[in-house]
Formats: sequence, structure tokens, C-alpha cells
Amino acid sequence: MKSKLIVGNWKMNGGLQANSDLLLAIQSGMSETSCRAAVCVPLPYLAQMQTLLQGSALAWGAQDVSAHQSGAYTGEVSASMLRDFAVRYCIVGHSERRHYHGESDALVASKVQCVLSAGITPIVCVGESQTERAAGQTEAVVKRQLAAVIHANGHCISEIVVAYEPVWAIGTGLTASPEQAQDVHALLRQQLQAASSQAERIAILYGGSMNAENASSLLAQPDVDGGLIGGAALSANDFLTIMASASR
Ligand code: PEP
Repeated sequence: MKSKLIVGNWKMNGGLQANSDLLLAIQSGMSETSCRAAVCVPLPYLAQMQTLLQGSALAWGAQDVSAHQSGAYTGEVSASMLRDFAVRYCIVGHSERRHYHGESDALVASKVQCVLSAGITPIVCVGESQTERAAGQTEAVVKRQLAAVIHANGHCISEIVVAYEPVWAIGTGLTASPEQAQDVHALLRQQLQAASSQAERIAILYGGSMNAENASSLLAQPDVDGGLIGGAALSANDFLTIMASASR
């Protein structure tokens, strides 16, 4: 059985000193039997991660990337630039990007292509809004979002990580029940299996108010391969408790 993966999404939080304190506390609490783990940090701190985490069991990543390789795209950062900082993961299609920046399924699929070509693992986020869930559209929405990525990336699809993040659970304190999460993860697993003979390699993470209290029951579900953690990733104790739940 592959070990679970716990990824912290720091969002737009942090500072040089605060990052260093947080990483020190996380690293000193990690054991050799810990699950796989990473932190996805704001871009200006990637160099700091490279310095502080080189050789550590804690990997690092970015939270977004450009869909272009280079050129006149002021303010954007390409996947090859991320590679210069040895990032292992890049979150793509987070609901905050889809919502606040109007990212479409097609744009997310192109970003995934760029990330894969740079040899970085994309963490592709999918998830339905509260209105979509209430209208019984959860399955259609997450399948449509994932289909766009599968269609654009063909045989490379086994190199991605998927994160099921119901939008209504992100940063709200509302969490999908373990059964709700498992139901959607099983659907996503089937969709991936239909697309790739190597789908078993693909980790499907749950994200949405996962915390030290609810992590064990979510991570105990057969198709929940780990977690994408927002708020709780900013506390070393909480992040370590979630990692411990994933390491059993
Ligand atoms: C996220 O932003 O990916 C997330 C899951 O946030 P939170 O854990 O705070 O809901």
C-alpha cells in the first residue's frame, strides 16, 4: 500500500521568520515512519524552502503556475522557473483560483500540462459548490473538471495527484463527512481507472477544513489517500497530528 500524502497549503500567509519557526517545529516533530508530506508556500518563499528543506523528508511546492512557458506575461511565473527552486508539487485549479481569477477547466488543464512537462507533480483540485451539491450536481461537476485534465494530458495522467475539495468546506469549518468524501473519491478513482492502466498510482487527497480532530476518520476511508490542508497547516501541532493520523 502506498503511504499517504499530507500537503499544507499555506495560501497567502507567512513571512521569513514565521516560516522558519513553523518548519523547525514541524521537522522536529516528524518521525522516520511519517507519511509523505509537503508544504505549498507563496512564491517568494520558495528559495527559503530550498535552503531550509533540502535533504529533509518534507517536500515543498507552489500554489499556482502560468499556462505559458515564457514571454510577455507580467506577473506570471512559469513551471520551469518553479523547477529552478526544486519544487516537487504545484497546486493547480484551487477553487480560490477558479473563483477569484476566473480559471476555466481548459486553463487548469493547460497549467497541468506545463507543470508535468517541467517534471513537477501537479495537485489538481476539483470540487463542487454548495449550490451544485444541493442541486445534485456533485458528480457531474467533479467529473467535468477532471475530464478536462485527463483529455489534455493523456498517458501522463498517472503522474498527477488529485485533490477533492468541496468548495463549501474550504475555510468554512464545514467538513465533508467521511462517507461523502469516500463517495466522491470512489467516483474519481473510477474515472481515473478508465483513463489509465496505472491509475492506482494516483493519490486522491481530501481537502476542506481537515483538522487534527477529523483527520483520522477521513483518512480511514479506502479511497482517501491523504489530505490537502489549509488553515490547520499553519499550526505545527495540528499539521503533525494530521500527519500522525496519516501514518498509522
Ligand atoms: C485549501 O485551501 O486547500 C483548504 C483545504 O483549506 P482549509 O483546510 O482551510 O479548508
